[in-house]
Amino acid sequence: MMPEERSCSKYGMTQSEWRGNDGSGYDADGQTYCCVGCYDDTGCTCHAES
Ligand SMILES: [Zn+2]
Ligand SMILES: [Zn+2]
Repeated sequence: MMPEERSCSKYGMTQSEWRGNDGSGYDADGQTYCCVGCYDDTGCTCHAES
C-alpha cells in the first residue's frame, strides 16, 4: 500500500505546502487541514511570508 498523500481538506494543498503545526497539519473532525486557519475559517496562514 502506498502512503496516502495528505492534502488540506479545504483547499487541497499538498502536505509539502503546509505550515501549520510545523508542517504536520491540523487534524480535526476526521479531516486534515494545512493549518488551523483552514479548519476554523480564520484564514489559511500557509502563504503568509511574514
Ligand atoms: Zn488549508
Ligand atoms: Zn494553511
